[in-house]
Amino acid sequence: TAHINTLDIKAIRNDFPILARMVNGKPLVYFDNAATSQKPQLVIDAIVHYYSYLNANIHRGVHSLSQEATDAYENARIKLQKHFNAAHSHEIIFTSGTTHGINMVANGFSSLLNKGDELIVSAMEHHSNIVPWQMLCERTGATLKVIPMNENGELVISEYEKILSEKTKLVFVNHISNALGTINPIKDIIRKAHAFGAAVLIDGAQAAPHIKADVQALDVDFYVVSAHKMCGPTGVGILYGKEAWLKKLPPYQGGGEMIAEVSFEKTTYADLPHKFEAGTPNICGGIVFGTAIDYINKLGMENIASYENQLLEYATKRLLEINGLKIYGTATNKTSVISFNIDGIHPYDIGSILDKLGIAVRTGHHCAQPIMDFYKIPGTVRASFSFYNTKEEIDYLVEGIIQAKNMLL
Ligand code: PMP
Repeated sequence: TAHINTLDIKAIRNDFPILARMVNGKPLVYFDNAATSQKPQLVIDAIVHYYSYLNANIHRGVHSLSQEATDAYENARIKLQKHFNAAHSHEIIFTSGTTHGINMVANGFSSLLNKGDELIVSAMEHHSNIVPWQMLCERTGATLKVIPMNENGELVISEYEKILSEKTKLVFVNHISNALGTINPIKDIIRKAHAFGAAVLIDGAQAAPHIKADVQALDVDFYVVSAHKMCGPTGVGILYGKEAWLKKLPPYQGGGEMIAEVSFEKTTYADLPHKFEAGTPNICGGIVFGTAIDYINKLGMENIASYENQLLEYATKRLLEINGLKIYGTATNKTSVISFNIDGIHPYDIGSILDKLGIAVRTGHHCAQPIMDFYKIPGTVRASFSFYNTKEEIDYLVEGIIQAKNMLL
């Protein structure tokens, strides 16, 4: 039977003030959700509320306001623990975002790797899941191996099996590719790495708005996300790490909050999670990340995924009606990201014309140059959908592309 959509999209759109905006004299059509999501009024209000009534530094004050702010921050940590089903709330480390989380782990492994050790990355990673590891290899003498992808934008798991060995210490792969939308078989990737004693970090930045990852069921060692892709503010995210790993890794930064005792002879580190949270954190961001998680869970992740899948299916069908349009990333298992080009037209030119029509898409390499090299293209136009988008907006995109084509060809 047909899926009964339980989301009231019209009401949801009213939650997002920016969606009522005009851009270049046209109603905004926001299709750059893979870069960052828009924010509902309730999230915006929570930011104002925090600075209006709750602002104090946390974990240090004897006074009531500091205690209230600390409670709100720690409560957000528990919301995130529950959302990702972590065994302990101290396995949730607040970060400034996915990039920060990956760098924390890469830095921590500096003292655990030796020359000859191997790390495995995939061919479809965001630069933030490549460059920190290259820097780690430079520091340690470890080498980086790559899981290749095929024409459809899927990882070739049989090749992964060939490069895995006792030398492999770490594997890092995204859960969903921001450039192609591919959902990677991370459970299988994790299981295979563990068979060789290697740890696995999953970059969940692009997956977190669509799929609720259960870190215990996945048995993943590290999982990183950014709040800003999930209706939350910028400048905050989390690193989930298994307790045993977080205990083993040295801290990333030294400073206040992360110590037990300091003297000039010797300093001992604080327990988890504080060991990794030096300095005054993004207190408001952490609290409001919790508000955003509540909002998403109220809509229901499954409802969101199923509606977005309808949008993906519809947009794919409509876009393929356009002559000369090619979609990159045709994996059977994918989310609402469509990367495409039109024969003979530079992606930037299409993006610029769409912008004049009020349509926000991303053009370029999407911080994933190796993917563009694989397809031998300079970049793509990327339209990425969220649960507040509509089929009418997709129709308008298709009209816009046809208009751009007529102007440019
Ligand atoms: N990985 C993936 C798959 C992403 O989509 C992004 C954001 N585009 C990042 C990592 C980096 O996230 P942030 O910029 O929030 O640190």
